[in-house]
Amino acid sequence: MLVFEAKLEGTKQQYDRLDEAIRTARFVRNSCIRYWMENQGVGRYELSAYCAVLAKEFPWAGQLNSMARQASAERAWRAISRFYDNCKKAKPGKKGFPRFKKHQTHGSVEYKTTGWKLSQDRRTIDFTDGFAAGSFKLWGTRNLHFYQLKQIKRVRVVRRADGYYCQFCIECERREQRELTGKTVGIDVGLTHFYTDSNGHTVDNPRHLRKSEKTLKRLARKLSRTQLGSKNRIKARNRLSRKHLKVSRQRKDFAIKQALCAVQSNDLVAYEDLQVRNMVKNKKLSKSISDAAWSAFRWWLEYFGKVFGVATVAVSPHYTSQRCSNCGAIVKKSLSQRTHRCPDCGHVQDRDWNAAINILELALRTVGHTGTNASGDIDLCIGGETPQCKSSRRKRKLQEQSLESPSF
Ligand SMILES: [Zn+2]
Repeated sequence: MLVFEAKLEGTKQQYDRLDEAIRTARFVRNSCIRYWMENQGVGRYELSAYCAVLAKEFPWAGQLNSMARQASAERAWRAISRFYDNCKKAKPGKKGFPRFKKHQTHGSVEYKTTGWKLSQDRRTIDFTDGFAAGSFKLWGTRNLHFYQLKQIKRVRVVRRADGYYCQFCIECERREQRELTGKTVGIDVGLTHFYTDSNGHTVDNPRHLRKSEKTLKRLARKLSRTQLGSKNRIKARNRLSRKHLKVSRQRKDFAIKQALCAVQSNDLVAYEDLQVRNMVKNKKLSKSISDAAWSAFRWWLEYFGKVFGVATVAVSPHYTSQRCSNCGAIVKKSLSQRTHRCPDCGHVQDRDWNAAINILELALRTVGHTGTNASGDIDLCIGGETPQCKSSRRKRKLQEQSLESPSF
C-alpha cells in the first residue's frame, strides 16, 4: 500500500460540507462503540449491519456514502479488536479500552471505491455522496497518472490545522532496486547524537521541538490570554496548532531521510529493540526522547528495509552499552559517563560507538539462526518520503503542467 497525499483546494462552503462528512463519520464510529458497549457479543458483522440501522434512524447520517459508513464501523471495530488483543496478550499497562472521539481540529473520513470521482486529468476530485461537497483542486507533488484507477482502494479526507488533505491509498507493492554494498551497520540511538553507528559516524539530533519551544510557548501564552469563545481565540488556537504541525512534519521528514540513507548504503541494519513507551515515563528526559522520534525512525527503517530488500534486525538492548566491544567484559557505567574505558583490555571508545558495535555483533549472531526479528508488522499504509528539496508553490505549479515526467 502506498499513500499519496494532496491538499484540497475549494471554497468555504465546500469545506463546511467536508466538515459535515467528517462529523458524520465520527458519529457513526462513536455510535458503533456505544452499541458494542451496550450489547454483549457484538462483533464485526453486527457493527456493519448497525450502520444501515443508523442511516435509517438518522437521515443526515444516511447522507454519508454507504461505504464510508462501513469504513467508520470498521474503524470502531479496529479499536475494539485492538483492545481485545491487548487483553489476550496480557500487555502490561493500559489495555486501551475504546473511547469516544471528541471534536478536534484534526479528523477524517474514509471513502472506499465510491462516493468520489477523479477528473479526467486527475487534477481535481469530486465528492459525490449526500453531502455533495463538489470538486476540489488537488495540490500535491505526487503523480496519480502513474497508477490505475482501480488500484486506488481508499480515499481519505483529513482535516488538519492548516487545511484539508486528501489521501489516496494505492494498492501497489513498492520494490526498489539497489546494488549490494557488502556493508553492515549497527545503530545506537541517543540523546546527544540522533544516532551513532558502528563505524563511529554520528548524526546530530536536530531537536526540532527545542528549537521551536520559545515560539510555541509564546503562542500558547497568547492563546490563554484570549477570551473564551471569541474569534481571536480561534485564530490563536489555529496559529498554535499550525506551529505544532510544522514541528511534527520536520521531525517526520528528518526520520525518513535518515532511515532512507541508512538503508540505502547497507545490506544489514541493526538497532536496539527499545521500548520507547517505557522510556518516556522518565519525566526529566521524556520531552527530549519524544522529540528524538526514534520510534518513527525505526518504523521507517523497517519500511525501507522491506522496500529495498535490506535486512533490518532489532536486538535486545540488554548490556549493549555495558559490554566491551573489544574483549566482551561487562563494564558498568552510568548514563552520564560518555566514554567506555575497559579495565580488562584497556580499550577506550565513545560510549555510543561501543554500543553500536555490540548491536551489530548481536544482530549478525541472531540473523544466521532465527532470521530477522523485525519487519513483521509493517503493513500500515503510510508511504512515500518527501522530496529532497521543497519546491515553492509556483515551481510546483509549473512542474504540474508538464505531464511527461512521472515524478515518482
Ligand atoms: Zn575490554
